[in-house]
Amino acid sequence: MVPVVELHNIAHVYVTDREASLAVEGIHLNVLPGEFISLVGPSGCGKTTILSIIAGLLQPSRGEVKVYGHTVNGPSPEVGYMLQQDYLFPWRTILDNSLIGLELTGQLSDESRSNMVALLEELGLGASLSLYPQQLSGGMRQRVALARTLSTDPGLLLLDEPFSALDYQTKLQLEDLIVETLHERNKTAVLVTHDLSEAIAMSDRVVLLNRNPGRVHRTFTVPKNIRNTQPFYARKEPGFNELFHEIWGEMEAIGSKG
Ligand code: ADP
Ligand code: MG
Repeated sequence: MVPVVELHNIAHVYVTDREASLAVEGIHLNVLPGEFISLVGPSGCGKTTILSIIAGLLQPSRGEVKVYGHTVNGPSPEVGYMLQQDYLFPWRTILDNSLIGLELTGQLSDESRSNMVALLEELGLGASLSLYPQQLSGGMRQRVALARTLSTDPGLLLLDEPFSALDYQTKLQLEDLIVETLHERNKTAVLVTHDLSEAIAMSDRVVLLNRNPGRVHRTFTVPKNIRNTQPFYARKEPGFNELFHEIWGEMEAIGSKG
């Protein structure tokens, strides 16, 4: 099985006019088709840098990055990127915001438009098609952002803290919705989150990074019973707390190193 993502010995140095800093080093990571993995670790450990490299938005200083077996040298329609901020256009309706990706790639047709309406309905936004972003709650806006990300049917989704601006209840609902939507469509996903229980509840594997420079500290495989349970209920599954405390302990060890 060809991995969807292959990072081989990636390093990245940010160069500014004042200094050069090594953000990540020696990153090896494979993500298999249909897998959902999370990147966790202290602020500044390079999570966003790694997503940007996978997305082809940032050329790594060293190493090789492949998506679907092809060396990445720029953004590709195979990859969708969803951020903490939804970046919806305030002057466009919900439907028109969702259709932007199709418009920009010349794929807008009666068929793709009605597929989008169906997706928005599936995401609980059927009554909001002609509203504007400022009329929606944060959770609804992120659902629009999800629909927009899925519109061009990328096989791989990169999610950079998509829930961190939401209240707890909304976040839990959205976790379930995203996992279900991505599983149904057989998508592969890499999620960045600072919420460890979210990472365990949503993922097949949790990759813990340390910092200065960012490296993979340890990878944890989530037990099957937790993986097979929707995120909300996964938190009550046997083994969840044990895994949480195991990773938490490692995180504390990293933190104390500095
Ligand atoms: P995370 O997402 O885990 O918080 P980032 O990938 O954003 O971490 O950043 C990793 C390191 O690289 C940090 O030390 C950060 O300050 C630095 N960094 C990130 N982006 C830039 C940039 N554009 N220019 C210079 N340094 C950067
Ligand atoms: Mg980040």
